[in-house]
Amino acid sequence: MSGDAKTLLVTGGSRGIGRAVALLAGERGWRVAVNYAQDEAAAAQTVATIEAAGGEAFSVRADVAREADILAMFAAVDARWARLDGLVNNAGVVDVPARVDEMSVERLSRMFAINITGSFLCAREAVKRMSTRHGGKGGAIVNLSSAAASLGSPGQYVDYAASKGAIDTMTVGLAREVAAEGVRVNAVRPGIIDTDIHASGGLPDRVAQMRDMVPMKREGTALEVAHAILYLLSDEASYSTGAVLDVTGGR
Ligand code: NAP
Repeated sequence: MSGDAKTLLVTGGSRGIGRAVALLAGERGWRVAVNYAQDEAAAAQTVATIEAAGGEAFSVRADVAREADILAMFAAVDARWARLDGLVNNAGVVDVPARVDEMSVERLSRMFAINITGSFLCAREAVKRMSTRHGGKGGAIVNLSSAAASLGSPGQYVDYAASKGAIDTMTVGLAREVAAEGVRVNAVRPGIIDTDIHASGGLPDRVAQMRDMVPMKREGTALEVAHAILYLLSDEASYSTGAVLDVTGGR
């Protein structure tokens, strides 16, 4: 792969939607940094799949709830490639179903630290590297929101939905903040996508249960979300910034 190929950091790039983004980006010629928090084997497998297809990638462990981890992760990308062209703020978690009147401060702190603060800090570090204001050459950020941001997820996880509402607002605000500095910032809002996140939230059958509520009468795949993300990262989306694209089957 050419040494001047564009570089992309995908947080939570080891599994689910992030993995699909990493693989598709690798196929399209991006050099990919695959972040993960715990599952080293999944990250290694994602990197190996990219390399087997002729791409270039490496894995980097960092818990996006920890600023020191984020700084070390960006330093690892700097050391490897000395450039950054794209960031996909994908790492995110849900939690087990609960009403707001049952939520502990520990639950809320974890949710917001990973889903909101982690995305802000990664965006901060990316802008420092990509913005022409800081001597960068421009770039693109894509944030992972959720249909939950508009639905609110009552009785399930209003905290998660609110964290994604924050992502929508951050997308619009940051997009306008850095629009004249060569950096585009957009978001995708997936609906019901078939990944392990539902089982992580204690609802392994959630996709099957929700399928009929989707106008298209089916769940989406991680690859379908990845296609939207790769579009927003690409020059084909050169006049789009601050956009939030639904990938929900009409929901
Ligand atoms: P997933 O299958 O559960 O995968 C989550 C990924 O994030 C894994 O690679 C995981 O790595 C990583 N991760 C989790 N916590 C992390 C942390 N603190 N620091 C760094 N990485 C961390 O999730 P997914 O379904 O692909 O979801 C990806 C994004 O899409 C999330 O932001 C989610 O909110 C959003 N989304 C998903 C759906 C859906 O239906 N699936 C719908 C709307 C929005 P480890 O395995 O190492 O922990």
